[in-house]
Amino acid sequence: CGIVGYVGHRSALDVVLDGLRRLEYRGYDSAGVAVLDGAGGLAVERKAGRLANLEAVLDEVGRGVFAGTVGMGHTRWATHGAPVDRNSHPHRDTTGRVAVVHNGIIENFAVLRAELEALGIEMASDTDTETTAHLVALAYAAGDTAGDLVASVRTVVRRLEGAFTLVVTHADQPDVVVAARRSSPLVVGVGVGETFLASDVSAFIEHTREAVELGQDQVVVIDRAGYTVTDFAGEPVEVKPFTVDWDL
Ligand code: GLU
Repeated sequence: CGIVGYVGHRSALDVVLDGLRRLEYRGYDSAGVAVLDGAGGLAVERKAGRLANLEAVLDEVGRGVFAGTVGMGHTRWATHGAPVDRNSHPHRDTTGRVAVVHNGIIENFAVLRAELEALGIEMASDTDTETTAHLVALAYAAGDTAGDLVASVRTVVRRLEGAFTLVVTHADQPDVVVAARRSSPLVVGVGVGETFLASDVSAFIEHTREAVELGQDQVVVIDRAGYTVTDFAGEPVEVKPFTVDWDL
């Protein structure tokens, strides 16, 4: 339902939670966050119910676990699987190194799930989303796309049917967040030494009003210096920067 991604110099947890709060008006049934600590660690927490429920868990675990300046968050409106903790986003692969959040529906998830199960991968949730975490992890681990996160994401999204905004992090790539979209909104926010991703500009306009709208079937990688957009085949594409001029 709502998505926020961040690479910068502030606490990613704070930026992501603030952004999710600004997207609350859209309605949701669960919420979650992932933060990369810059030293190879990936901390994930998710919880059914209001953002306040997630924040209570973060306080219980200790927010120090979520120290880092790269992260993402999600508010879920369940389509596949009940609105319970285990179906809340982010979803991870079996190693826990890859995390994904997703808006929309992956129509062919049953085929993808069967393929993964045939490889001996056990699903930890009932969602359509989880398949993408395993597929990205496999693409990153071996073959042509080994060690290349954006190429791995491109390979996976080419196989997906349906409408989606997919945001991906990998613990091995602690300075980037990768996202892709088809028939579901995604905007980039361009700051100074920090870059944002969101399903709606309202998630980041308190930090920057310089934005870029992603087009159909595009992939973006953000880092502290900015963003790079390609199509699903990896070809560079022209983007549409704009300035958000409405008042907060
Ligand atoms: N289809 C996904 C799920 O049910 C994402 C739903 C959403 O857009 O929040 O988990």
